[in-house]
Amino acid sequence: MIRFDERDTMFSRMELVPGSENYNSYYARRPEFKAADDHFRSASPGKYASDLVNMSRIDSAFRFLKDLRPLAYREDNSGGRCPGQPVLREIEKALHETALDYGAALYGQASLGLECLYSIRGRGPAYGEPVVNPLRNALVFAVDMNRDKISYAPQPEEAVEVTRAYVRVAVIGMILSYLLKELGYRARCHMDGESELVLPAAAQAAGLGKIGRLGLLLSREYGPLIRLGAVTTDFPLTSALPGGGPLTPEPEEYCFSCVICARRCPGRAIPFEEAGRTGSPDQSEMPWVTDHAACFGMWQKFGTDCGICISVCPFGKQISQG
Ligand code: SF4
Ligand code: SF4
Repeated sequence: MIRFDERDTMFSRMELVPGSENYNSYYARRPEFKAADDHFRSASPGKYASDLVNMSRIDSAFRFLKDLRPLAYREDNSGGRCPGQPVLREIEKALHETALDYGAALYGQASLGLECLYSIRGRGPAYGEPVVNPLRNALVFAVDMNRDKISYAPQPEEAVEVTRAYVRVAVIGMILSYLLKELGYRARCHMDGESELVLPAAAQAAGLGKIGRLGLLLSREYGPLIRLGAVTTDFPLTSALPGGGPLTPEPEEYCFSCVICARRCPGRAIPFEEAGRTGSPDQSEMPWVTDHAACFGMWQKFGTDCGICISVCPFGKQISQG
């Protein structure tokens, strides 16, 4: 089993400040990324960067999320309570209901394997620290995104909807972690920019869907029109709640003949090959591996998160429209 090193993600690499200790040590270890990454850093603002109003909507959401991050790992449970067995079922039900009440469209739970955890952190104050002995019982959830707004991709209206989803899913994670701490358990919220988890892998383990050709989770109900969040805890989960029912057809089967996302990707970042045969250096347990540098190049060109692959994916469309 190969685990992802979060430092190798584009988001982590783009946060490195030239000349800093982390910058120097990272490119000493991965010199093959340096030229391309430095080129990205010096690139001019993308095509839609002049849309100041929508760009401000996006940036303000990310700034809010950045302010939330320290709360994600704050250890401050009430400490005293130790519920007996019958109460555990009640709590489990309350966690599920709370997630739905705050807007989760999908919810599941699982005891996570190591493949769902980054090997080494690549963002925030924990940069460079190995992920060891984390909480492994996980509540995993997703919010759905508005299909009409996502259809604007790659224009900024799509990114506004994506950031709205990041905020909604972070709030759900926060409230679940605060509820668990109120009940005396340890809990950690995993959200945009502050996560020990490879969220698509954790969501797959919790039964919310399967990873498709575009490298994101495909859910039965919404296809890739979701954003994921999770809370890990020492609360003793008793049963695997069904995440979203069986996927019919399975993404492996559907994506085998459907290559729409790969055809429409302007960066040629999505593999046309069969699952598991991409030959990417970024190898992992993922069935298909996106070329993240090629994808990020398009993000820079547009000045948005592109999102064309998500907008064109037909998986889940009939169910969400029916
Ligand atoms: S976001 Fe755009 S560039 Fe990136 S994989 Fe999807 S379609 Fe390709
Ligand atoms: S567009 Fe087609 S191939 Fe790509 S993820 Fe969606 S269903 Fe799979």
